[in-house]
Amino acid sequence: MEQTSLISVIVPCYNEEEVLPLFYAEITKISAQMQEKHPELRFEYLFIDDGSKDHTLRYLRALARKDERVRFISFSRNFGKEAGIYAGLQNAKGDYCVVMDADLQHPPAFLPTMYEAVASGEYDCATTRRVSRKGESKIRSWFARLFYRIMNKISQTEIVDGAQDFRFMTRQMVDAVLSMSEYNRFSKGIFSWVGFRVKYLEYENVERAAGTTAWSFWGLFRYSIEGIIGFSTAPLSVSVVLGLLSCVAAVIIIIATIIKTLVFGEEVSGFPTLLCSIFFMGGLQLFCMGILGIYLSKTYLEVKNRPIYLVRETEENMPPAPAEDEAK
Ligand code: UDP
Ligand code: MG
Repeated sequence: MEQTSLISVIVPCYNEEEVLPLFYAEITKISAQMQEKHPELRFEYLFIDDGSKDHTLRYLRALARKDERVRFISFSRNFGKEAGIYAGLQNAKGDYCVVMDADLQHPPAFLPTMYEAVASGEYDCATTRRVSRKGESKIRSWFARLFYRIMNKISQTEIVDGAQDFRFMTRQMVDAVLSMSEYNRFSKGIFSWVGFRVKYLEYENVERAAGTTAWSFWGLFRYSIEGIIGFSTAPLSVSVVLGLLSCVAAVIIIIATIIKTLVFGEEVSGFPTLLCSIFFMGGLQLFCMGILGIYLSKTYLEVKNRPIYLVRETEENMPPAPAEDEAK
């Protein structure tokens, strides 16, 4: 018999009860198509319930009872998508792993092409790149672009604009990603940092199939700060540059004042200037201390070495089926 290869489909889910049935239908359809062409392929679907508050977990239990390819890990609370991805990669058994969103914004129809690219041995990873941000608000797209521009200027790790967490990877690359066990996880940076040969497939943005996004504007803002702090130390040098600049300015002002006093004689004035410079310097110092503080707080959390996620339930220890679940 030919050797089989297992593909693990990892899906972080947070309040996705509306969209999961659609996703499951779609992914099983694509899997069947792929198996027709490559009979050696096997699949496992590993759903990560990230402390959902709706009936996501109940649906996953029912699914796991019905379909033995379905596995799930349910967190003790919401740990965030990054933790979900990590848990998925850690627990996946596949020779290949693919990480994708539950909302069908990462179309399963890409899987065959991704598989071909990676299985041919030419690439270690296949991923998608959005070439448009259709359906997204203008201001959000603008900030997103600004983020990529800043990020790529100040960090050695290149983050491709429009790159996504939709990744098809070999076991080798998964192990490399897992070896980065940091607490403050920024997947886009991590995937790029580990390197390997990556194939980018381009596509137009698609809107969520159902449900609503869990990302608020501030959530995204915090996430981008996470990215910058996690993959660049450039902000730390800001204080050095600003400090130098204000020293130079101070020397110039001192020389100018001395000359002025010598030439025009002494006069008591310049209180507004004094006040302005005090405020300016104070602001500058607080700003630089703030940057230091952010790095320090990230280091603090990292040093504590807390677990990235905590599991409450998996398909192996789920409660026996109540009558209502079977109906679903
Ligand atoms: N997600 C998660 N934990 C969270 C937030 C989101 O696991 O705390 C999952 C969510 O269920 C979805 C994916 O991450 O499968 C992407 O989330 P969403 O569609 O809300 O983000 P967007 O597509 O707007 O970036
Ligand atoms: Mg989405």
